[in-house]
Amino acid sequence: PKYQSVALVLGVTGIVGNSLAEILPLADTPGGPWKVYGVARRPRPAWNADHPVEYIQCDLSDPHQTHSQLSQLTDVTHVFYVTWASKPTEAENCEVNGNMFRNLLDAVISNAPNLQHICLQTGRKHYIGPFEILGKVEPHEPPFHEDLPRLDVPNFYYTLEDILFEEVKKKEGLTWSVHRPSVIFGFSPYSLMNIVGSLCIYAAICKHEGKKLRFTGSRGAWNGYWDVSDADLIAEHQIWAAVDPYAKNEAFNCSNGDVVKWKHLFRVLAEQFELDIEDVGEEGGSEASLEEMMKDKGPVWDEIVKEKGLVPTKLEEVGNWWFVDLMFGVETSLDSMNKSKEHGFVGFRNSKTSFLTWIDRMKSYRLVP
Ligand code: NAD
Repeated sequence: PKYQSVALVLGVTGIVGNSLAEILPLADTPGGPWKVYGVARRPRPAWNADHPVEYIQCDLSDPHQTHSQLSQLTDVTHVFYVTWASKPTEAENCEVNGNMFRNLLDAVISNAPNLQHICLQTGRKHYIGPFEILGKVEPHEPPFHEDLPRLDVPNFYYTLEDILFEEVKKKEGLTWSVHRPSVIFGFSPYSLMNIVGSLCIYAAICKHEGKKLRFTGSRGAWNGYWDVSDADLIAEHQIWAAVDPYAKNEAFNCSNGDVVKWKHLFRVLAEQFELDIEDVGEEGGSEASLEEMMKDKGPVWDEIVKEKGLVPTKLEEVGNWWFVDLMFGVETSLDSMNKSKEHGFVGFRNSKTSFLTWIDRMKSYRLVP
């Protein structure tokens, strides 16, 4: 056959989905040549359209639509699940995300006879708990490693894992992997949580208004050690797990392999947008809410888009302020990549370079000036 492997990427316009769409079709990608199907809820956006992917518009929360569209993809060999829906409470997150994942697996497992492997992306909240209880229950102490027990609170990541473990039993030889990134540095104007994109928009607004760039997080977040996860690295990690026999039926952390401080990354951001940084004092931290600061800036953003001839976007969609506010309250966030290395994955990224790369991408695709 023309293709050795056939990928089905769920959430192909998301922050990791877009990287998978770019990397999977490349000639030297392990397991290739790959044919790629990509699923997302909305029509295909222009910034995703150059990737050689068969695009399928489908709402995974609709069981009938999912079944009628995805059960036809009988040649799928590998599933990459990089999507989610955000709901007000974790109980709803568990229900809605569990249903989406179940709808997908129902459509694919019994209809794709050559299906071999399912990659499920979850994340760091596996160790610290869902957003709604951040700071309210005792999280695990960093550095996080994969063998830590689950926290005793509802978490849609646990729901997804349990569905996965149950469903793979239905097909002999079907394997799985779970990928747990930290905060993701990548490109997608459609992502619900895109910290680099949001910070670029914030910086562009500061520039337009002639203001200094102010770090709105806590002192702990300014000075604390963090690791982050490059979206391309996560895609490579998932492709590794999809094809390497040593990576089967395991959960893995997935971060860049170095540490950063926001105070250093803010210098990079300020340079890229030719801004001065507002002095936060020796100790750092100003504890303001970006969500509050940005709530009336919609018209300002529209003006910038028009004046600079940018790709039209809405501020409430590309500025994920609630997410940035939450992240900037976290003091230290670190995991261990030992398990991945011990199983043979030695990929890494320089996080400062990664930050710069995705800022560049925002500019070159004309999302920011
Ligand atoms: P994302 O928000 O960037 O993208 C989601 C994708 O799924 C988009 O393509 C969207 O169109 C699609 N989608 C949404 N609802 C859909 C539906 N009903 N039917 C079909 N497609 C739909 O996704 P992400 O941030 O990569 O999130 C995937 C997982 O990674 C989540 O569990 C998330 O919590 C986790 N995670 C994200 C980050 C981050 O910084 N973004 C960090 C760690 C973990």
